Amino acid sequence: MSAGIVFLDRDGTILNLVYDSELKLMRGARNLDEVSFIGGSVEAICDLSKKFVVAVVTNQPDLSRGKLSTVDLDLIHLEIDDYVTTIGGKIEYFAHCPHTVDVGCKCRKPETKLFENIIAVEDCKDPLWVVGDSVCDVMAGKRIGAKTIQLAPVDGDPNYCASDLLEASKIILRN
Ligand SMILES: [Mg+2]
Ligand SMILES: [Zn+2]
Repeated sequence: MSAGIVFLDRDGTILNLVYDSELKLMRGARNLDEVSFIGGSVEAICDLSKKFVVAVVTNQPDLSRGKLSTVDLDLIHLEIDDYVTTIGGKIEYFAHCPHTVDVGCKCRKPETKLFENIIAVEDCKDPLWVVGDSVCDVMAGKRIGAKTIQLAPVDGDPNYCASDLLEASKIILRN
């Protein structure tokens, strides 16, 4: 039985979004060259992992679209893990949904299967936290009964708002 689980979104929460000039929108990193950390995010994960199980839960529909390989996805997650372990932190789980929204799967946030799988393994009811930059993170968090923190700009209805993951980690650690 763990002390609680903090579920973190990846893109826009831990890693900076990447501007795609073809699509004319911001998207997640597709390879190591595109990986850059949002300031303070690695330290925040480290601090959280001293008290909580930390899990990264991310939607990666580019896998289904053939724009992202599983090899590159693994490399990106290894890179995040490396940075965190180097300063003494730990990420217990990386979980991803590879599907596009039209598939109607049960794992793409705001669906909750990825969260529920981890909760079952950890045999953990409480406390649960979800931190993310999107409304789908907040919705998924509410569905699993977690406290939710949305990173600015906030367009959902989270329990707390924060400017970044470092601020979110301080909210979690003092509650
Ligand atoms: Mg995000
Ligand atoms: Zn899925």
